[in-house]
Amino acid sequence: MSDITREQFDDVMVPNYAPGKIIPVRGEGSHIWDQDGREYIDFAGGIAVSALGHAHPALVEALTSQGNKLWHLSNVMTNEPAIALAKKLTDLTFADKVYFCNSGAEANEAALKLARRHAWLKHGDDKHEIISTLSSFHGRTLFTVSVGGQAKYKEGFEPTPGGISHVPYNDLAAMEAQISDKTAAVIVEPIQGEGGVTPGKKEYLEGLRALCDKHDALLIFDEVQSGVGRTGELYAYQKYGVTPDVLTTAKALGGGFPIGAMLTTDECAKSLGVGTHGSTYGGNPLACSVSLAVIETLTAPGVLDGVEAKGQRIRDGLAKINERFHLFKEVRGMGLLIGAELVDEWQGKAKEFLGAALDEGAMLLVAGPNVLRFAPSLIIPDADIDEGLARLEKAIEKVVG
Ligand SMILES: *Cc1c(COP(=O)(O)O)cnc(C)c1O
Repeated sequence: MSDITREQFDDVMVPNYAPGKIIPVRGEGSHIWDQDGREYIDFAGGIAVSALGHAHPALVEALTSQGNKLWHLSNVMTNEPAIALAKKLTDLTFADKVYFCNSGAEANEAALKLARRHAWLKHGDDKHEIISTLSSFHGRTLFTVSVGGQAKYKEGFEPTPGGISHVPYNDLAAMEAQISDKTAAVIVEPIQGEGGVTPGKKEYLEGLRALCDKHDALLIFDEVQSGVGRTGELYAYQKYGVTPDVLTTAKALGGGFPIGAMLTTDECAKSLGVGTHGSTYGGNPLACSVSLAVIETLTAPGVLDGVEAKGQRIRDGLAKINERFHLFKEVRGMGLLIGAELVDEWQGKAKEFLGAALDEGAMLLVAGPNVLRFAPSLIIPDADIDEGLARLEKAIEKVVG
């Protein structure tokens, strides 16, 4: 494929993405190499996906050994890896039951449909309202962009489904004013990711739990980004000590192989009886084998214990960079999901720093126009953190001058 170039992308792809100007061809741990053999430190992990870095031996082993056995059955048959993974996830969380799909949007689609149907079965047509938060992101299907709290993702796609409202994030009074006995569900990210890496306040999430209990509404935590070890706990809800009725997970769940899941209680699961929902690929043996290897590797003794310290190492590095350049007004987040918000004079310019960092050999992300986002491998070696930050510092020096 040596005749493939980045320029060809624009000739043959729908223009909904604007990928960086290199084409990566190989990865190992927290390093990526492009077509020209240039090496990069990966602080992005795709988008918070490659939680064990690239080509982790345990995942390669799971993928290749299952790949030689059985890839696909659809849900006309079950399979061993799916049951083993569901067992693992229910053992490790509040959940009693699991529904598998292939992405974060699909996991949220399932959660929202479950919430509506659960309320409908229990209370009838009137209890169907869904309350979400401003700046939230829940995926790109029509239902999930409608529930998401960012108008730009809905523009031109109307009419969108009804019965959905949005209130400011981390504002319990606003939620209290909106919620009623007509509310079927409240959906929040415990840490808003795409919206700018904003952690929910503990009292806020506790308050949501109480409000949902009062109005018999389901509390849905979208942990597509915050889950699978990112905060140092397997799921962020465990860090907060606030338990949802439904939790959605994807991104890092497959460590780079597509899989999503909705986790819930026995009581809620009953509302999705035979034939009510489904997915051709959901729960396929290949994805479930890889995901099982991800969860087993991450939950092995000691692995998640390192997340907090690695996150702190990045924050300390950013603080040092900031002493020199006064570029960040705030560095926030949890564990290895970190957002650095640019000071006023650089607002809107996050992408510029991303491009400059790539030129220096460091891959990072933005979260909106004002925030640099870090979501590296959860086992990134300290030496790679230091080297990546040194490259970022060089890039910043070039941009800021
Ligand atoms: C990425 C993301 C999604 C969407 O996941 P896809 O796999 O892209 O469909 C949903 N919710 C949150 C919080 C996300 O970060």
